Amino acid sequence: MSKRAEDSLEKVASEVVVCTKCRLCDTRTHAVPGEGAKAAKVMFVGEAPGEQEDLQGRPFVGAAGKLLTELLEINRLSREDVYITNVVKCRPPSNRPPRKDELMACRPYMDRQIALLRSKVICPMGNSAIHALMNLDESVTSLHGVPFEVGEVTYFPMYHPAAALYTLSLRKDMEEDFKKLRALLDSLDS
Ligand code: URA
Ligand code: SF4
Repeated sequence: MSKRAEDSLEKVASEVVVCTKCRLCDTRTHAVPGEGAKAAKVMFVGEAPGEQEDLQGRPFVGAAGKLLTELLEINRLSREDVYITNVVKCRPPSNRPPRKDELMACRPYMDRQIALLRSKVICPMGNSAIHALMNLDESVTSLHGVPFEVGEVTYFPMYHPAAALYTLSLRKDMEEDFKKLRALLDSLDS
């Protein structure tokens, strides 16, 4: 059996929690592999863990996570129905943006998660995730809420919930985008 055939989400997580492939391992409390359903129809990808995530070892458990959880629940989804992770698995000091070399070092973990989950819909949230996942330089401002099909996968870019926390208009856009996502998921079910 090939190495890839034996891969699993648990194996990825067990490697992430002891990973030393970039400098972020020096300052993290806990690496944050991601969590959710094994056969998640939709995968949400943020930038990198923040303070609460670093302390708890779980993705989106701080203020931004509370908003994400709320938006899921309003749309008949729970955190257990979806998979939630980040492009970079360890918290950058003072929440600075992840650097190119950190993004590159961490990338294989996300690629393996994507290959294992085979989610039909992937939602990159915010510019870091959009750039990493969709290989596009355009901003979330022009891309959010518009499905983008690549083969079997539909990318559905969204604002980052942390941005929506502080700007009411972005929050409204995000609420609208979540409704569109719900309709997209329903159309895939039928
Ligand atoms: N912001 C992110 O991008 N990811 C988290 O897990 C939490 C906050
Ligand atoms: Fe490893 Fe990614 Fe953490 Fe860097 S950010 S130490 S590559 S898990």
